[in-house]
Amino acid sequence: MPPGRGGPMGAGFLTEEEKKNRPKVTWPLLKRILRYLKPYVPQLLLVLAAIILSATLGLLPSVLTGEIIDKGLIGQDLDMLIKLIILSLGVSLGSNLIGVGEHYLNNWISQHITYDMRNQMYRHLQGMSQRFFTSNNQGDIITRMTSDIGGVERVFSSTFTSILSNVITLVAAVVIMFRQNWIMALVGMAIIPLFVIPTRLAGRTRWALTKESQECNDQINGILGETLSVSGQLLVKLFCKEDYEYGKYKDVNHRMIRLNIRESMAGRWFWVLISTFSSVGPMLLYLVGGILMIKYNSSLTVGDVTVLVALLGRMYGPVNMLLNIQVEWIRSMALFTRIFEYFDMKVEITSPEHPAQPILSDGTVEFKDVDFSYTEERQILRKINFKLEGGHSIAIVGPSGSGKSTIINLIPRLYDVNAGEVQFDGVDVRRLDLNFLRQNIGIVSQETYLFNGTIRENLLYAKPDATEAELIEACKKANIYEFIEKQELGLDAVVGNRGLKLSGGEKQRISIARVLLKDPALLIFDEATSSLDSISESKIQEAIDPIIESRTSILIAHRLSTILAADEILVVKDGEIVERGVHSELVKAGGTYTELYETQFRRALDAQE
Ligand code: ATP
Repeated sequence: MPPGRGGPMGAGFLTEEEKKNRPKVTWPLLKRILRYLKPYVPQLLLVLAAIILSATLGLLPSVLTGEIIDKGLIGQDLDMLIKLIILSLGVSLGSNLIGVGEHYLNNWISQHITYDMRNQMYRHLQGMSQRFFTSNNQGDIITRMTSDIGGVERVFSSTFTSILSNVITLVAAVVIMFRQNWIMALVGMAIIPLFVIPTRLAGRTRWALTKESQECNDQINGILGETLSVSGQLLVKLFCKEDYEYGKYKDVNHRMIRLNIRESMAGRWFWVLISTFSSVGPMLLYLVGGILMIKYNSSLTVGDVTVLVALLGRMYGPVNMLLNIQVEWIRSMALFTRIFEYFDMKVEITSPEHPAQPILSDGTVEFKDVDFSYTEERQILRKINFKLEGGHSIAIVGPSGSGKSTIINLIPRLYDVNAGEVQFDGVDVRRLDLNFLRQNIGIVSQETYLFNGTIRENLLYAKPDATEAELIEACKKANIYEFIEKQELGLDAVVGNRGLKLSGGEKQRISIARVLLKDPALLIFDEATSSLDSISESKIQEAIDPIIESRTSILIAHRLSTILAADEILVVKDGEIVERGVHSELVKAGGTYTELYETQFRRALDAQE
């Protein structure tokens, strides 16, 4: 018995989780799905016509077999026989050719729908806030982009069309059978329930195993991801865990092959049952047909009986597929529901409709009574007030976790304040065009991110039309040119996965060069807390000192030399500015700054010396 088109046997059951999360199929949901089809209506109509034609033409050879037997063979009419055979072959070929066209078109439509959806999702995710990316698992985001939207492609290319073509085949077959002989049609249909039970049992067994092997597969991927990643493999090496990890991998791998073998054998016994039943159907029809013809002198012919048997055979596939379709349907709806959930997440931070135009752009920043919290439970910043005039610099210092980076995050609107306001160039940042704001701010963060590419590509990210001379100048200013010159490929040296081929200091200096190319009105420098060696440190220091002098800048500082370069120092503790002033005054005040100086800055200074 051929399986129904697009109806995988193993997918016949919903998992407990799927049952629990069964989506509500509502009219708005359907309407939303249909909206994706709207641009492709002409192509869809063509597919519909092709499906109807190919499904009905596909049944015709079975009907023609009756004529071949009755008129050609029994009627001994050779001419007719040849004509019917040619016709039958022609119809078969025609139906298959239409099928090819339908497959192409169908694929074209579903690929285009997923293309639209992927682009839309990517654009949507790009607009999501920092909060979204820090609170959602990266794996989930990628799954949504790849598997879920990939699943949608399957729904359009296979589920929808297979429902349609199977229903058409089934209805057409039933109508023809009843037209041939209603008693025989009823007998044929009586056998169908016999298939339901073994089909479902086979499906259940296989489904359970598929689930288990999926879990196994996840485990394998987990092990690979953890132990073959750049930092993972390093940990394994340094703790000499190669044999332990290999053993773990080998075990799961072995479990996987055992499961695969069982899976491929699963349900074979039920298939024996199903195959036996599929031979019972035709035999029953021959028997009843024979009785009708011999005992009751029915007008039924040998050809008629053959047609009925052939049609019955054509019905099993669609019946089986439609038996399982409910599951496919629910899964598809769940897929759409999940994707739409993402689409419905509000883009938190957007440009105002009518942005304000600052009169002068010199990077002036002012915080006015700013309160902020990432979550409702805990307030991070309280009543932050300070003003940084254009051309000046401020150093922010404070214990770890006091809120320094958080203050910085509010300026380019990675987050919005809960109360008060942050002004840039004298205007509330929420009233400025987002692109304008972010174009005018350059951040060198603690964790420098470089794309996997060449140094040049990473630099050009800031200014795509920078000339070679500009690139070199920026690198010189960032104190990295000497290093680049030593590279065989110079600016075209590859930085490796996330810049891992470079040292922390080199990465940071490249990112300083990148920011210099961007040439922002305000420069923010989040100094790395991790200990760089004193040579790298002084190189970075040499790079930033002259930059700070000429620019509006904010420095989150951990080293005395950086602090001393700033015009004003803000001391942050538990989300509040507790002290402010210049070094010479603060160090004498005996407060948090003095404490920090004693424990942190001076030690760093001693280490440097
Ligand atoms: P460090 O000097 O160690 O970098 P910091 O002073 O810059 O520290 P912040 O990064 O501003 O500190 O963090 C302030 C507080 O906010 C910390 O307690 C931190 O746990 C919390 N926090 C930071 N980012 C988030 C986030 N995305 N969601 C929730 N809480 C956060």
